[in-house]
Amino acid sequence: MHSTHKSYYDDPYLRKLEARVEALQQEADGSWICTNQTLFYPGGGGQPADQGSLDGHRIQDIKTETDSIWHFVSDFKGNIGNLVQLELDFSRRYYMMQQHSGQHLISHVLDGFGLQTESVHLGEQYTAVEVSGGFPDANQLRAIQHRCNTLIGKGLPIHTHIANQESIKQFPLRKESGMWEVLRVVEIDGLDFSACGGTHVKQTSEIGLILCDGIEKIRGRARLHFKIGARAFKQIEMFQHVTNQVQNLLQTEPEQFPERISRLQEEQNNQHKTLEQLKRLYLHEIQKELIQQPDFIFYRIEPIFANEISKLARSMANSVQKGVCILSGQRFCLALPESFPLNGNTFIQQQQSQFGLRGGGPPSLVQGSLQIQDDSALREAVQSFLNQPFSGGIS
Ligand SMILES: [Zn+2]
Repeated sequence: MHSTHKSYYDDPYLRKLEARVEALQQEADGSWICTNQTLFYPGGGGQPADQGSLDGHRIQDIKTETDSIWHFVSDFKGNIGNLVQLELDFSRRYYMMQQHSGQHLISHVLDGFGLQTESVHLGEQYTAVEVSGGFPDANQLRAIQHRCNTLIGKGLPIHTHIANQESIKQFPLRKESGMWEVLRVVEIDGLDFSACGGTHVKQTSEIGLILCDGIEKIRGRARLHFKIGARAFKQIEMFQHVTNQVQNLLQTEPEQFPERISRLQEEQNNQHKTLEQLKRLYLHEIQKELIQQPDFIFYRIEPIFANEISKLARSMANSVQKGVCILSGQRFCLALPESFPLNGNTFIQQQQSQFGLRGGGPPSLVQGSLQIQDDSALREAVQSFLNQPFSGGIS
C-alpha cells in the first residue's frame, strides 16, 4: 500500500507542489491518481475536501485509502513514476481554514457559557455548531460573539502538536479524542486544545471576524449559525448597503428604525380600518340605489371593490326578480334569487368564448374573471339569459 505524505500539515499555506505518481486506477470516465505527497486535504472532521488541479486538470474528487490519498481527474495521460504539478484553490482553502479555526474558537467560547459542541458544519455559505447544555438567548449570543471577536483581536497563536494515544493525555482536550494511532492536537494559545485533523490559520487574527447569524432548534438542541472570515465581511457589507437604503427611505438614523417602522405599521392599520369603513358606507349607498331596480341589476363598480362583488351581489339577489350581475375590473359575479330556476354556470359555459369568462360556483352564485372591452354586449347577454323561457327545474 502506498503512503501519501500530507504536505498540507507541514505548511497549510502551500499553494503549489510537485509530486510523483505512485499508483493509478483507471475508470471509464477518468483516473484515480495516488501521489507520494499532496497539497489537498481530503475532507473530514467537518471540513470539506480541497479543490484544485493536477497538471492543469481539475481534480473532481479526492479519496483516502488507509495512508494513501487519491485524486480523480478525467483526462490524465501520465504514468506511474511521472512528476505532476499540484495546484491548490488557495482562496477556498484559506476560507476553510478561517472557518475551521473560527469554529474551534467558537466552541471554546461556547464552553465558557456551559454549551458543549456536539457537531459542526463548515460550509461554503455558513458554519454551524450544534450544542448541548442550553438554548442561548439574544443577550448571550451577543456576548458569545463579542468574546470571539475579542480573542480574534488578540492575535493568539494557533499551534499544532503530534501525539499518540499515550502522549495525548498531557493535553487538556475540550472533547475526547478518537482512537487514532497518530493524533494531531490543535491548540489556541493555551486556551483550547482539540484533537483535529483539519487545516488551520497561524493565529486568531487571521480568522478576521465572527458574526453570530442565527439560531435554530434541531433534535431538541440549539444549532448556532455563524459567518466567519471573508463571509462575515461580506455580510457586514450587505448590512451596510441595506441600512443605507432603509435610511434613505425612512429618513432617520438606524437606531430609530424599529420605532419608525412600528409607527408606520400603526398608521397603516388605522388607514386600513378607515378604508374598510368607507368601503362599507359606499357599498351600502350603492346597494340602496341599485335595489330600486326590481327586475335585474347590472352594475360596474370601481376595481377597489373587486373582493366585495360577491357579497354585494348576494346581498341583493333575493330583492330582485331575476338576478344581479356586478363587474369590477376583470372580475364578475352573477347572483340569482334562490327560487330562480336557472344555473349561473350555464351562462358561463354559453358565453365563455365571447367574453372570455372563467369561473363557476353554486348555481345561484357564480363568479370569476372576464375579458371584455365594452360592458353593453355582456349586459345584453345576461339580460337575455335571465329572460329566457324555462319549463321548470334548474337548467
Ligand atoms: Zn477541528
